[in-house]
Amino acid sequence: MTPQTRILIIGGGIAGLSVASELCRRRRTGMGLTLVEAEPRLAHHTSSRSAQHLSPGYGPPAVRELTRLTVAQLRDGLPGASGPVVWPAPTVVIGSDDQLAAETTFTSEQIDRARVLELCPELAGVPDRALQGGLFEDDAVRTDAPAILEWHRSQAAEAGTRILTDSPVRSASYDDGVWTVLAGDHRLNAEIVINAAGAWADKVAGLFGASTLGLQPLRRTAAVVELERPLEPGHPVVVTADGGWYYRADPEGAMISTGEAEPEEPCDSVPHPGQIEALVDELNSTTDLRITGVKRAWTGQRTTAPDGVPVCGFDPRVPGFLWLAGQSGYGFQTSTALARAAADCLLDGCIGAWCSPETTEALSPARF
Ligand SMILES: Cc1cc2nc3c(=O)[nH]c(=O)nc-3n(C[C@H](O)[C@H](O)[C@H](O)COP(=O)(O)OP(=O)(O)OC[C@H]3O[C@@H](n4cnc5c(N)ncnc54)[C@H](O)[C@@H]3O)c2cc1C
Repeated sequence: MTPQTRILIIGGGIAGLSVASELCRRRRTGMGLTLVEAEPRLAHHTSSRSAQHLSPGYGPPAVRELTRLTVAQLRDGLPGASGPVVWPAPTVVIGSDDQLAAETTFTSEQIDRARVLELCPELAGVPDRALQGGLFEDDAVRTDAPAILEWHRSQAAEAGTRILTDSPVRSASYDDGVWTVLAGDHRLNAEIVINAAGAWADKVAGLFGASTLGLQPLRRTAAVVELERPLEPGHPVVVTADGGWYYRADPEGAMISTGEAEPEEPCDSVPHPGQIEALVDELNSTTDLRITGVKRAWTGQRTTAPDGVPVCGFDPRVPGFLWLAGQSGYGFQTSTALARAAADCLLDGCIGAWCSPETTEALSPARF
């Protein structure tokens, strides 16, 4: 059987689009590459719902390494893009001394309460027990997620990648080295399938006869709110060490988030009634942010592997089935490096020496 498509990517979020453009860059052609997306539009799910913050000190060690590489490349700019896609966005994590000492998610410079209040005067009313000091990270950046998604899409499309929306993968069978996949109205053949299905990655794996990895979608809600007084340009992103909330400046006021990580089935997640209003009340009573209204709110699913590290590599038991999933809250900040790692696996058989052996091992689906 001759495959029409050598490589089939399942999922049109940041994971699927970035690996499509990376493969096109390396091959200089998208011939033989198809991307299928279940929804009528690309990036409908988590990739259109992020906080657009890239923090090199945030996450487990493998994530931090992938983030450093991704941020360095994004700082250099995207070839042919009309302008920069990252801007400085220093970050302050606040909490009690005990919380900050136990903090393992963020690695940054320790600062005292007085310094936190110099950087973020609106926190002066937060009681001492909740703000004894902070962790300060000055190399974090804000990004333009829609611009990055569109850049990857256009790179892939211009190189000839077939992009099929409204095409949910429903079944798959394997014969003589070729997958036959039914996706929407399409019957597609491929030698290699890349599972970039976000919250649905374990369900997609089941269709291909792969063992599920225990990937768990965790809901998180955010909103853009109006402020009585705008935050100063360059105002730090503020995050509570207990994960209670975070906020950052936004051109329309501020972006705030409830910071929750609540398990949920894969779905088109929406905010719980009253959830954002409760956070607005809390922020207005504990800080001097002075929120005057909610412009829009949304919920997305951060999908996490049991050990919190993304999964990138060929399935150890199922032929031609490559995982690119479990990006959790790091999907944009690791995107360039993870796309490169996935393309290495596919084109070279393993992740290149640009990535440390520890991170290569940490990403492997064989670890489960
Ligand atoms: C509130 C919030 C804030 C966040 N903030 C940040 C941040 O500041 N920085 C950061 O780096 N990350 C952040 N993230 C995480 C980031 O958004 C995700 O890690 C990333 O978007 C995941 O991308 P993805 O492509 O894996 O998933 P998705 O964007 O969900 O894409 C997967 C796609 O696969 C499709 N699909 C599923 N099943 C099938 C099927 N059977 N057939 C065809 N297609 C299928 C889906 O429709 C979906 O479009 C945040 C997430 C949330 C919710």
